[in-house]
Amino acid sequence: MKQIGITTTVPIEVLLAGGYQPVDLNNVFVSDPDPERLVNIAERSGFPINCCTWIKGIYGVAMEQGIDTVLCVTTGDCSNTIMLMEVFRLKGLHVIPFAYPDHPDVSEMHRTLQSLIKKLGITVEAAEEVRKELERARSLAEELDRLTWKDGLISGWENHFWLVSSSDFMGDHIEYERQLSQLLVECRERKPYPDEMLRLAYIGVPPVFARDLYDFLERQGARVVFNEIQRQFAMPHRGNSLAEQYSSYTYPYSIFDRLSDILPQLYLRRVDGVIHYVQAFCHRGIGDIIFRHRIDLPMLTLEGNNDYLLTHHLKTRIEAFLDMLKRRHRGNGNTPSLFSTVSLRPRFVGGSNPSTTL
Ligand code: SF4
Repeated sequence: MKQIGITTTVPIEVLLAGGYQPVDLNNVFVSDPDPERLVNIAERSGFPINCCTWIKGIYGVAMEQGIDTVLCVTTGDCSNTIMLMEVFRLKGLHVIPFAYPDHPDVSEMHRTLQSLIKKLGITVEAAEEVRKELERARSLAEELDRLTWKDGLISGWENHFWLVSSSDFMGDHIEYERQLSQLLVECRERKPYPDEMLRLAYIGVPPVFARDLYDFLERQGARVVFNEIQRQFAMPHRGNSLAEQYSSYTYPYSIFDRLSDILPQLYLRRVDGVIHYVQAFCHRGIGDIIFRHRIDLPMLTLEGNNDYLLTHHLKTRIEAFLDMLKRRHRGNGNTPSLFSTVSLRPRFVGGSNPSTTL
């Protein structure tokens, strides 16, 4: 199969039916042992220092790996992708633009998918066949998520890793199914995480320092039981067609559509506190204002840029947040706090630079 780079989660069923093997350039970037090298490729080509690291990483991967075709999402992900797409064109890559409808609507999604299907010269039926083929892998991802929050057998990092990897199923959904099935069998032999551990939600785009963050939280007595966007990548609400599946997928749509998924999950998963991750120079950081108005749980906003491990500063902020949650937890007689009124808002120090939020 011919490789096609993708810049975020897209209807891969259509790409697979068209004979392409989707490669999520974000995942390749962040799992590289030396991601800085890929960012340097972009900066040497002229990408500004104050451009999001993910965009530069995607570009670096495409250049280094000689990807010659990229599906770029122009609506429903990132405005920077539009200019990234133009640079890809300049470099001679074949780019296929894809725009999610501006609101979740099954008929509009159907039309959008049909347009992509037509571009690739396939049929709706062929794409729907692939949807059925991926059903097992998506169900396993759903089971992994349940074993995380309900049974306490899967770590926050494992949850993140397997859900985020469902954007392209690591290039081979059969192998994804095999490895994930094995983990789901093995995890049943584990001792569940203790009930006393704090239960956290992680909302926002995946972090650049994922492994370090989840491990650090667990060492501090807290675990992530809800990875919002990663879970959305795995398509938890699939319906009966691709149009239904990609209309229920909340990430491309309004932040209020995301909240309609987030709020019930916080309640269901008995979350004590929320970490909102924002990427430096990303427009999505502004959404923090809305989350803080609508989510009535303690919230810590963490910003990452190009540090692939937690800095001392971030560790200190996380520790302070967890200490506060632990005190509240004890105060409530260990009863999980459902929608309390306390909110730990970030303060700005050293002027107006958002990267110095405390
Ligand atoms: S983190 Fe924000 S700016 Fe960066 S690629 Fe994602 S949406 Fe775009």
